[in-house]
Amino acid sequence: MSVMELKKVNKSYKISGGETFQALKDINLSFEKGELVSIIGESGSGKSTLMNLMGGLDSDFQGEILVDGENIRDYSEKNLVEYHKEKVGFVFQSFNLISHLSVLDNVTLAMTLSNVSKSDREKRAKEILGVVGLQDQLHKKPDAISGGQKQRVAIARALVNDPDIIIADEPTGALDSETTNQVLEMIKEIAENGKLVIMVTHSEKVAAYSSRVVTIDDGRVINDQMGKALTVTDNKYKTAKPNRNKNLSLLGSAKLALLNMREKLSRNILIALGGSIGIMSVILMLSLGSGVNSYLTDTMNSQVNPLVSEVHMPDEETGNETDINELQNQNPLLSSSASFETENIDELAGIEHVESVEEGFTNFSIGTNKATYNENSGQFMSVTTISSMITSADIAEGGLPEEGEVMITKNMADTLGEDLVGKEIQINTIVNEKPLDLTMTVSGIYGIESGLDTIYLNYEDLKNALEEAGGELNPNIAYLVSDDAASTDAIKAKVEDLGYKGSSTEAIAETFSQMLDVFTYVLAGVAGISLVVSAIMILTVLYISVVERTKEIGVIKAIGGRKKDIRRIFVSESFLIGLFSGMFGVGIAWGLSLIANAASTHYFDVSIIDLTPMYAVSGIVLSIIISMIAGLMPASKAAKLDPVESLRRD
Ligand code: ADP
Ligand code: MG
Repeated sequence: MSVMELKKVNKSYKISGGETFQALKDINLSFEKGELVSIIGESGSGKSTLMNLMGGLDSDFQGEILVDGENIRDYSEKNLVEYHKEKVGFVFQSFNLISHLSVLDNVTLAMTLSNVSKSDREKRAKEILGVVGLQDQLHKKPDAISGGQKQRVAIARALVNDPDIIIADEPTGALDSETTNQVLEMIKEIAENGKLVIMVTHSEKVAAYSSRVVTIDDGRVINDQMGKALTVTDNKYKTAKPNRNKNLSLLGSAKLALLNMREKLSRNILIALGGSIGIMSVILMLSLGSGVNSYLTDTMNSQVNPLVSEVHMPDEETGNETDINELQNQNPLLSSSASFETENIDELAGIEHVESVEEGFTNFSIGTNKATYNENSGQFMSVTTISSMITSADIAEGGLPEEGEVMITKNMADTLGEDLVGKEIQINTIVNEKPLDLTMTVSGIYGIESGLDTIYLNYEDLKNALEEAGGELNPNIAYLVSDDAASTDAIKAKVEDLGYKGSSTEAIAETFSQMLDVFTYVLAGVAGISLVVSAIMILTVLYISVVERTKEIGVIKAIGGRKKDIRRIFVSESFLIGLFSGMFGVGIAWGLSLIANAASTHYFDVSIIDLTPMYAVSGIVLSIIISMIAGLMPASKAAKLDPVESLRRD
């Protein structure tokens, strides 16, 4: 049975204006193994068209091209890929070697596409490069070898999978006469090893080497002349055909992408740097937000006993009329909330993990509070009872007030005089509409900076003083002491469930922290716009890369690369760009955060940028995702390229 048989093959090209051009007309040919066929004819007679059909690069024709009794026009993509991988090898006039791959890698590429192991494919490639006499040029790039050597690499590439058919379109067209002879000898030897070699040529001399000369004119076979038959010997290119069903692995495609990127190193570094700016800004913004936020939270928490939750009565419904009191009530700092009844205290004491409930009182007024020491006097704004909320860590000097004692804020102490601890001061205030005139000993100075001057005293002292003045004191704050710091949050949640209010300062801090979060996200969002810019940049660069690598894509298809493989190579490239951009971005952000934190530590004693590993990892992942999305379109453009079109560009 013939190796290849053409029956009534017709090919027409669509040309502009809806017309068609008939390039091949009723071609009938049959080829045997061991034949060296020259196809000759004028330029434009249809030789390349015929080669492309026989090589399975173009399936758009009428008639039959039978290989092993099957029409290659009816091949599925899988069959066609197998045909390219194992049945047919191509040699081109312009060599079509991949310039960023070494001689060895150009030859192994066909096996990389079949996921043959590295050692197996290098062994095989060296074997076949030895046959074409290039065993010493393995690691050179195509640019570093002569034209004749290039064509021998291309021949080795065509032979590496031991195909039955070699298709060579003007293989000596770009060579001088001496190398032409060498290459022709080699091609003849291939046929003598039992392969079918079909080659297009212009030259009479080349045709003279052949065992058969087919002349084409205007798309028709006008002459088919048998010459001297070749002596067919053993096939010395034989190889065990491994991994019939295997395809390019992910790692293989990543390596190919990496080799290409290394070739254009400076360009790729610039792209990665460009892409990194967006990632860097987003990471910095988020880290800054979280740094500032955790600074605030830490400051808050350091002033708060983690075991204690502050509770207020809910706001009273005040109806619809808006008066100045209501406005005042809306400011959590200025409101003095309603009093607790006994059943409220009992309810709070019943919450799980609450060990005890401390009663407390605080009020706020302007202009009615005065503290006096000797000739000095100063205003204060709030009378507050002490609780477990205030710990000795909050005290700058002295201690917490005992019975008959009072603690005052630092600012007040500065106004009243020096060395106040242990001294008696006079306090005038109005609580629950009863004026109080108290003489108390200063126990200590409260150390937390606050704009709100306050005197702190014991609840019992205040209660007694008020009763003496004919008034009554009911708690308007309750402090719930938890048996375990871990339960404090649950207690706070329960308190809100029951309809009470939590600490007003905490509420402010929380609102502030939420605002800060929103602000951070807005900033990160703005920084995120640069991510769109990098995505577009990567998209453009990959499109350019597809155009630059059109030929390479054609070659990969001709040696059995699937659409999927090509897509994979380009997606790998965008993955790598994303990975490098992300790593650069995180690296630069990290460097900047070190500098910013060193500065902020120096001036404010805090680290303002909190670049967590989570941000770093998410930044890299985000960068990869964006880059891969940007790479999808160029990759599918590359996958869709028509191999005939891409190989034709010379
Ligand atoms: P040869 O290789 O013998 O020089 P080709 O096979 O390349 O000739 O071309 C045969 C004819 O088909 C020429 O007239 C050419 O212009 C035409 N042709 C080749 N490719 C195309 C195409 N893609 N679209 C339209 N016409 C084409
Ligand atoms: Mg041609």
